Amino acid sequence: MDFDCDVLVIGAGPVGVTLALMLAREGLDVIAADRSKGIYPLPRAAHIDHEIVRVLQAVGAAEAVMATSRIASRYDFLTATGEVLLSFDSTGAKTSSGWPPSNMIHQPSLEAALRERLEEVAAAELRNGWTLTGLVSSDDGVMAEFATPEGARAVHARYLVGCDGARSTVRELAGIGLDDLQFDEPWLVIDTIVHDPSRLPDLNLQICDPARPTTCVLMGAGRHRWEFMMLPGETAEQVSEAAFIDALLKPWNVDGAVGFERSAVYRFHALVARDWRLGNVLLAGDAAHQTPPFAGQGLCAGLRDAANLAWKLGSVLRGEAGVALLDSYQTEREPHVRAFIDLALMMGRTVCITDPAAAAARDAAMLAQRTEGKSPSQPLGAPPLTAGCLMAGSPGAGEVFPQPWTTDGSRLDDVAGSGAWLISRNDAGRPEGLRALPVSSAAMRPFAADVAAWLEKRGAEAVLVRPDRYVFGTGAAEELVSEWRRALALRSP
Ligand SMILES: Cc1cc2nc3c(=O)[nH]c(=O)nc-3n(C[C@H](O)[C@H](O)[C@H](O)COP(=O)(O)OP(=O)(O)OC[C@H]3O[C@@H](n4cnc5c(N)ncnc54)[C@H](O)[C@@H]3O)c2cc1C
Repeated sequence: MDFDCDVLVIGAGPVGVTLALMLAREGLDVIAADRSKGIYPLPRAAHIDHEIVRVLQAVGAAEAVMATSRIASRYDFLTATGEVLLSFDSTGAKTSSGWPPSNMIHQPSLEAALRERLEEVAAAELRNGWTLTGLVSSDDGVMAEFATPEGARAVHARYLVGCDGARSTVRELAGIGLDDLQFDEPWLVIDTIVHDPSRLPDLNLQICDPARPTTCVLMGAGRHRWEFMMLPGETAEQVSEAAFIDALLKPWNVDGAVGFERSAVYRFHALVARDWRLGNVLLAGDAAHQTPPFAGQGLCAGLRDAANLAWKLGSVLRGEAGVALLDSYQTEREPHVRAFIDLALMMGRTVCITDPAAAAARDAAMLAQRTEGKSPSQPLGAPPLTAGCLMAGSPGAGEVFPQPWTTDGSRLDDVAGSGAWLISRNDAGRPEGLRALPVSSAAMRPFAADVAAWLEKRGAEAVLVRPDRYVFGTGAAEELVSEWRRALALRSP
């Protein structure tokens, strides 16, 4: 049967483009189709964590993204009068990836960096102005229909991944329902261009003011953002008027320090798709899950999906793993996504209180917790994977393997390369399909101390690191290799 490509990616937002780049890196032929002609220009993600910069590093976009980003070390939740309810401080914190913990970005700039990379990759083709209108999935593959500027077109692919955002056509055509976690709040988002940074906060803020819950955050270089919760009776048109926006910004005393760039009204939701895979059709990014932005993790979750899915599709399509490996995608990603949504909901429900009595009770309880030293002070780290393609029970399984850096900026992932790694204290031979990396090898020598310390802490002779840099398992090298083969092949249909 003739296929136009191995994987058809619907939607060339940040998740679709990252996935396309990763699939191309797996040696697959990819078509990414997007109904738009260019990058979505409205304000959206402002924050990505360090693990996500590592994902961007894997597709060659980290430097370009970091060049336009700023580091944020503090995230405070304040009462209406400025008392600190919660303060997450990552000043000076070292991360396992080596990248800064919290990075403030401008999403269109991040997307531009990804699209630039895509242009350089021959195996991935971008088709702009292609709107998915129908799909038929069978055991052999997926036939997708498009409306294009040249008329109706069809693409036949072995797999199709819907990265087509919150209102996913793929999700709808596949008949996949959503689990609604019951959050629905309209907020006005205002992006500004900074003229005088000295007059702006240098930390991220949630102002838990019942009269108007407000967010104020750094963005990428040269930009600052405010978000204002809309109150009952207010309309999108009303809050978008220049005079209304000026009045909202007045208490911040930033007249002349910033210039208005753009605004948009969003309804913040918490939703999770019930099925992330039906046969040869999969979902990723906002198509699979949506979170309120209070933890800055929606896009992060989507890029984690891309990293999780790409190597699995690569392994299956190259015939190195059974098709059921793809089921571990939702098994692994859904609990992870739900943990971050829970965090965002906790933050959102803290901030979005508009009843003065309830807000006073919240303030009293949280201030007391802080006085007693019971408040969390570190941002929540990403949870480990708990089930899926793992050697469950072995120390470290499901954690992200660290990426040590040398003092001259050389990084483990760049040196060790793509694919799965078998890192061992002693020479473990050359197992097929794995990159054997004895700690004493020339490649590993600059990182030997960090890696040996990691192994030591888990009492392990070796570690098998998956291509998405999650730890498959630790133990004796031979056992790891046979368990890895079993994990991939036992999942055959
Ligand atoms: C105000 C706000 C603040 C946020 N802050 C953060 C934050 O700080 N950190 C964070 O990690 N995330 C944040 N997010 C979330 C983040 O913006 C999204 O999670 C992210 O954009 C999702 O990327 P995506 O590629 O899945 O979907 P999208 O970016 O929505 O891309 C979907 C693509 O699919 C295309 N498409 C749709 N339908 C079709 C079709 N039928 N045929 C072809 N193409 C189609 C669209 O044109 C679009 O290009 C925020 C979101 C908002 C709204």
